[in-house]
Amino acid sequence: MSEKEILQNTTRSTGRDALKKNVQAAIALSGAIRSTLGPKGLDKLLIDDDGRTLVTNDGVTVLETAKVEHPVAKMVIGASSLQDKIAKDGTTSTVILASEMLRNSWELVVQGIHPAVISRGFRMAEQKVVEAIDNLSVSGNSDLFKKAVISALSGKGHDLLKEIVSELALTAVEIVSQEGEKVDRSKIKVISQTGSSIGESEVIQGLVLAKKRIDISMPKQIKDGSVLLVDGAIERRSFSSDMKLNVTTPGVIESFRNKEREMLISQIEKLKELGVKVIACKEGIDDEVKSTLVKLGIQAFRRVAKSDLDLLSKSCNATIVNDVMSATKENVGKCLSSSNKTLGGLEHWVVDGEGGGATIIIRGSTIDVVGEVERCFEDALGVVSQMFEDDRLLPGGGATYVALARLLRRYAESIPDREQLAVEAYGDALEVIVRVLAENGGMDPIESLLAVVSKQTKEDSNRFGLNLYSGQVEEMVDSGIIEPLGIVRQAIIGATEASISILRIDDVLWAKQDVGIPELPNS
Ligand code: ADP
Ligand code: MG
Repeated sequence: MSEKEILQNTTRSTGRDALKKNVQAAIALSGAIRSTLGPKGLDKLLIDDDGRTLVTNDGVTVLETAKVEHPVAKMVIGASSLQDKIAKDGTTSTVILASEMLRNSWELVVQGIHPAVISRGFRMAEQKVVEAIDNLSVSGNSDLFKKAVISALSGKGHDLLKEIVSELALTAVEIVSQEGEKVDRSKIKVISQTGSSIGESEVIQGLVLAKKRIDISMPKQIKDGSVLLVDGAIERRSFSSDMKLNVTTPGVIESFRNKEREMLISQIEKLKELGVKVIACKEGIDDEVKSTLVKLGIQAFRRVAKSDLDLLSKSCNATIVNDVMSATKENVGKCLSSSNKTLGGLEHWVVDGEGGGATIIIRGSTIDVVGEVERCFEDALGVVSQMFEDDRLLPGGGATYVALARLLRRYAESIPDREQLAVEAYGDALEVIVRVLAENGGMDPIESLLAVVSKQTKEDSNRFGLNLYSGQVEEMVDSGIIEPLGIVRQAIIGATEASISILRIDDVLWAKQDVGIPELPNS
């Protein structure tokens, strides 16, 4: 079959035409979210098919919720989602950077530079950025960490909220972080309670579960105890409705019952043998064994949700078993303490496992307030985990991007080939962040950019950026506008990756009708 026949029902655009359409799609996409960037960014009201509403200024949330059909736009959204997964922040920046890189590439293509040359130049520039970015950073301390979390939450809530959230998120991550290891955020449990004020939110060392021990005569607190987690029950088997027991001899029922009792006893014996002091079952625990468990000084919990068992298993280094009889010494975990605590008027079970764990209790007056606080925590925990893994911080407010652009311009001068133009274009693209920040703050984008560039040059410092609260060009570390290096680096790498893969497409085949390019924003 000839190519013509194969492509019969296909709309095809090739070469420059394809690239032009793809660049337009990326620009349109960033146009949809650029107004959310920075502390003065506006919110978007999202309404889903069922009419549920969500107000957000989070780039990736907007893009993932919108039903975007264009494949190239989807690639850019993919870069933003990846950013969300890896770095938990910088999602809007990634999209804005990618589209600006493409916009500048298009201008070069129009001047006759081949996309392959541009891609090569972009790679060179990216490499230079990755090498240089470390020199622009400062090492974090607890004061700077807190400021970085507050910067990351800018535009997300009022000052008191940001203060409380950053403080608590730092404490929670500190509890679960272990020297030299990646922070396991799943060890942080978040519980919400309505009815009190945000200021009463707290972090508790250990996992907090809304559970009572099955008998109040059981110990209130166990210290350094062995923990067994059972994805099952310690109880008699109940007859299921279609089960038949044919009784032919007298005493059969009796011996059946005895056998069941024996099985319960052997399970208790097993617990004794393993030295278990705390046991949690996903299903029930027979009332008949309660008194024996009390006598043995065991703390027991029943009907514990599987998700909580999973958390406990991580925190206590225990393996969940299907039933007590199959448990071995290796399955048993350890807790530093397992105790009873009244929180918000309700009894809770607090387990401080050997492997760490923390619970953030979010309090707020209404469900909406609690929801807002929860989303803030999600962002804050992401940023804090980043900083615990890599404590290097960068000046924000566009300072780092401008510094990198200045550096790339100097670097470009040393390249004799056409790639020089691509490196310059890449540097120019990085400056888009300051322009958009200024634009969203109601300031003139070009003037603001020029002011930052000239201040950095005059002071010979990479730390000058735009403070949108004062409207001035300031030293960003002094002003406390800082962000984790990992987030900025990932945003640049992700944007480069997306723009290069889009630049390499020179043939677009639409199986059905052209989905069309989203409307171009007037920018
Ligand atoms: P993203 O989704 O990319 O994280 P944000 O809306 O969170 O987007 O905005 C982050 C940008 O806002 C960063 O470049 C950061 O440096 C900047 N920023 C934060 N606070 C300020 C401030 N007070 N003045 C200027 N820029 C700020
Ligand atoms: Mg952010």
